Formats: sequence, C-alpha cells, structure tokens
Amino acid sequence: MIAPKTLKLSLKSLRDFAKGNLPDEKLRELDERDECPIDIVRYMCNPDKLAIQLLFVPEEYGGLGGGAFDVYCICEEMARVDLGIATSVLATFLGSDPITVGATPEQKKIWLSRIADEGILFAYGATEPEAGSDLGSLRTTADPVMEDGKVVGYKINGLKQWISNGGIADAYTVLANTPGGPSWFVVERGAKGFSYDKPEDKHGIRLSNTAALALSDVYVDADRLIGGVEGQGLIQAQAVFGYTRVMVAAFGLGAGWAALDRAIPYSLKRIQAGGPLSEKQGYTHKLIVPHVARLEAARAHIEETADRIDAGNEGSLNTEGAIAKYMATEAGNGAADASIQALGGYGYTHDYMVEKISRDVRITTIYEGTSEIMEMTISRDRWQLHLKTRGQYYHDQARTIEALHARHPNVGADVAALALHALAEVMERARVARLTRHQHVLLRLGELITYAECAGSLASRAARMAEGKLNEKTSKRFDATGIAAISRVFARQAAAKVAEDGLHWIAGTDGVRGTEIDGFGATLGLPAIHRAQAGLVADMDFVADVLYNRVAKRAAAAASA
Ligand SMILES: Cc1cc2nc3c(=O)[nH]c(=O)nc-3n(C[C@H](O)[C@H](O)[C@H](O)COP(=O)(O)OP(=O)(O)OC[C@H]3O[C@@H](n4cnc5c(N)ncnc54)[C@H](O)[C@@H]3O)c2cc1C
Repeated sequence: MIAPKTLKLSLKSLRDFAKGNLPDEKLRELDERDECPIDIVRYMCNPDKLAIQLLFVPEEYGGLGGGAFDVYCICEEMARVDLGIATSVLATFLGSDPITVGATPEQKKIWLSRIADEGILFAYGATEPEAGSDLGSLRTTADPVMEDGKVVGYKINGLKQWISNGGIADAYTVLANTPGGPSWFVVERGAKGFSYDKPEDKHGIRLSNTAALALSDVYVDADRLIGGVEGQGLIQAQAVFGYTRVMVAAFGLGAGWAALDRAIPYSLKRIQAGGPLSEKQGYTHKLIVPHVARLEAARAHIEETADRIDAGNEGSLNTEGAIAKYMATEAGNGAADASIQALGGYGYTHDYMVEKISRDVRITTIYEGTSEIMEMTISRDRWQLHLKTRGQYYHDQARTIEALHARHPNVGADVAALALHALAEVMERARVARLTRHQHVLLRLGELITYAECAGSLASRAARMAEGKLNEKTSKRFDATGIAAISRVFARQAAAKVAEDGLHWIAGTDGVRGTEIDGFGATLGLPAIHRAQAGLVADMDFVADVLYNRVAKRAAAAASA
C-alpha cells in the first residue's frame, strides 16, 4: 500500500497531465481518427515521467507496491479522463498479472523490473475467436520442444482476438494449451512467427489499440512458461479476478461520473420553460439522482472489496469483485446514457463528450467478464452459501445491518436489511421449487444479490463515514449527510427491486401460483418495503440539492419563510 500523500500526488499529477495534454478537443479528434495516442500511453508508463505503472509493481521489483484501493483510485481517475487510454495502461497491469501471481522469482525479476524501470507495455492474450467467456475452449497450443529428453522450449500456434495493446505492446502474456493444461507464456514483440492485425474499428474506446494476434510456430524458451509448471494458467488467471474486476469496476464508476459531471453543470445553465433544468424535479429525479445513487452504491462495494483485498486474509474475493464490477459498470452505462438524454440534442452530438463517454463505457460490461458471466459467478457462489447455511446467509447479513441501524438510524440500514431478508426468501423459494434449473432465474438472482449486497455496503459506508472511520484515501465528493441520503434512496430502490423482481420471476416460473402469491408477497416483506418508500422523493430532493450546491440556500429560504 502506498501512503495517502503519495497517492494524492499521483492523482494530482494525472489530473494536471490530462488538463494540459488531453483537452476534450484532442480526445474527440483522436476518437474520430480512431487513433491510439501511443506517445501519451508511453509517457504515462515512463518511469521518468508519469510512471503510473509503478503503482501496481511490487516494491521489490522497483515499483511502489500499491494495493487494490490505490489502483482503484487511479483507475477511476484515468477513466474520468479517457477510457481508451485507461484501457491501454490497464492492459500492462492485466498482462503482467499472471507473472505477479504465478511466475518464478527469476521471471518476476526480469519482467516486473522491466515494467518498472523501462516502462515496457504488456498485453494480455487470453481471448480467442472461439473462446471468449468460456476460456476452457481455448485452441492455441504450446507444444514442448525436447532436447536430450528435456523440455527446452515450446512452439506456440494459435489466434488471439480483441487484445488490448495488441499492436503496440512490447511483450505479451499468451494463454495456450500445453500437454499439462492451459499455461501462460511470455512472448516478445518481434518473435519469429508472431504477428498482429490492424486495429479493430470499434464502437468505443477508440483511443485504445485492440488487435488480433496470430502465432505461427512461435518458439519460446522453456523459461517463458510462467511459473515453470504446465497447467497453472486458469488458476493464475482466476487468482486475480477479485482485484482486476475491482479495477474495471472503477472504470465504470469513473466514466459514469465523468458523464454526470457534464450533465450537472449543463442543467444549471440550460433554461427551459422559464427556469434551469436543474430546478426541474422530473429531470433531476430521473436523469441524475438515481444514477448517482447507483454509482455510489457501486463505490461502496468497490471500496469494501478493495479494503478486504488489501487486508490480505480472505483469498481472491472473486465474487465480491464480480459484484463490484457488475454494479459499477451497469451503473456507469446507465449514467452515461442518461447524460445524453440530459443534454438533449446536444448530448447526441460528438461535441459534448457524453456521446463519446457513452460509447466508451459500453466496453466495461463486456471485457474482464461480461455482465451475464458476472451474474452467473455471483449467483453460483452465493447459492452455495445459501445452501450451506440452510437459507440463513442473507437473513444473517440482514441482522448485522439491522444492528447498524440501531446505531445509525439515518443511513438506510433498516431498508437495506429488508432487501437482504427478501433476498433470503426469494432464494429459499427458488430452492424449494427447484427454480435455478432455469438459467434465467439463476442469472436474475445474481442481479438481486448485487442490489441487496450493495445496499448493505452503502449503508455501512454511510455509517463508517459518520463515525470518521473510512479509508482516508476515499472519495470526498459527499459528506456524511449526503451519503446517508444517497444510501436511503438506493436502499429503497434495492428493496423494491429484490422483492418485486423476485416475485416476478418466481411467479413467472410457477414457483408460486394463484392466491398463494399474495401470501408470498408478505413473506418477502413487500408491505414493509412499500411502507419504507415513504420519504423517498424528499430524500431525492435533498440529494439533488447536494449535487447542485443549494442545501444552504434552501435551508436559509426555509428559515426565513
Ligand atoms: C475492446 C475490447 C478489448 C478487449 N481486451 C482484451 C484483452 O486485452 N485481453 C483478452 O484476453 N481479451 C480481451 N477482450 C475480450 C473480452 O474479454 C471478451 O470479448 C469477453 O470476455 C466476451 O467474450 P466474447 O466476445 O467471445 O463473447 P461471448 O463469450 O461469445 O459472449 C457473447 C454473449 O453471450 C453471453 N454469454 C456467454 N456465455 C454465456 C453463458 N454461458 N450463459 C449465458 N450467456 C452467455 C455473454 O455475456 C455475451 O453477452 C477485449 C474485448 C474487447 C471488445
């Protein structure tokens, strides 16, 4: 972990650099020309310049040894600037991951030191034309080359698809099937038989180079097999999913906020029907406030997960990373789409940037595991916990959050608890009626789990903020009162979603029928959840006032009235 002061300095350097070198006009031009600004990416990864890569390289190899929380903060900031450039920088991080988790000390010394000292760029070569979400169908092969009965090297053959930095990297980690199973290899740019295609013509992140790779009898020495043992590839890939998904979650968060940070000032200036749009409740409460609530719920889960990863005693936290990624990237997409609407016709043009942000953020629900794969991962894992605890897993979580409510009655914890209790009942009914045989139900459960857990995380974050116990590196955008109001808004949404969508899918798969449905609604706590909606619009009014800096003005007006 790095010191908060060092992180603050890095974030400031990044902001200053972006301000001076990446104004909107330049970003738009590069986007239109579909061009990756290689000089900028190299500058950002140059040890004598911005040196962002040092954050994720361990100290013993010349880096700063940043933790998950540090990297989340930097990823959010990079995404606020440009998601394509952020992807290019992240590709080195992803590409070096199999090395960080699985390489021998000698391999780590060579490659991680080169990233730190020379700023070399990596690419992460997992996906293939026939193997995307399902990496098990990998076709690239690495055949051992024998000498005197000993493996001295490998010949790699295959195709890789959609590889970030594919055409600009100095080195590539490539996943290939060996006789012992999938394994990672380091292949250097320029290796005989290795080539990359022209950059893909993409919907968004057009400042990021994405290219297909072809490997035809590419020979690598045996010491390029990461870890020196065959068959460790998928384990090495999975070992960092918690971490890497938190990074992509931060991308969704940063891009979503980048869009809202354009819509909010725009609505202050745009006068329609005699007043600024920012004063129109039908505008703010549809296009701004709910998106802020979802993004901050995602932030709460990201920070909770990053803190737990940094504490280092709970394994890789893959499911938590999946929840953070799923919520943050879907919220980021929602916020960017709403920001186009918030700018009306202007939002639909290239000039106002929200259109570009919306195209860019679209990738975050696809790479590093699609949203549907996240739903499956989340659902399968939590389903096991539901079974193991005989249905008590989420009731227990709800009870913890209820205890929080006793100490902090204003952070929405009581309503988050209703969401968690409802979730436990939805899952129990799904178990009794064997509904997860429908894949759709399984995946929808993944969504409901995400909402309920994020409501719990946000209420906890609001409570910890009130107690002054948050990680000091955390975002300072809202104070404790603001976060508490955002949490109350989100908790209501989460509880209604879990109970109503849960009932919807259970009834839709004949898990409850006829008049039984009314009783089941009560089992889910629907009447209490509906009662808890009281005060929702007033809380949304308050969040809008916070966002538009008019809390004090409103209070003064109320006092003089
Ligand atoms: C711009 C860009 C950059 C990328 N960068 C990299 C990189 O650097 N390195 C790398 O290795 N890869 C990279 N990728 C690849 C990316 O990770 C994959 O595109 C992603 O994992 C999805 O795989 P796929 O495209 O083959 O889609 P598929 O796996 O074919 O999925 C298509 C659709 O089906 C859904 N689906 C898939 N399986 C199931 C299932 N079992 N049940 C229900 N629904 C399912 C998916 O959610 C998706 O909606 C990049 C992709 C893009 C577009």
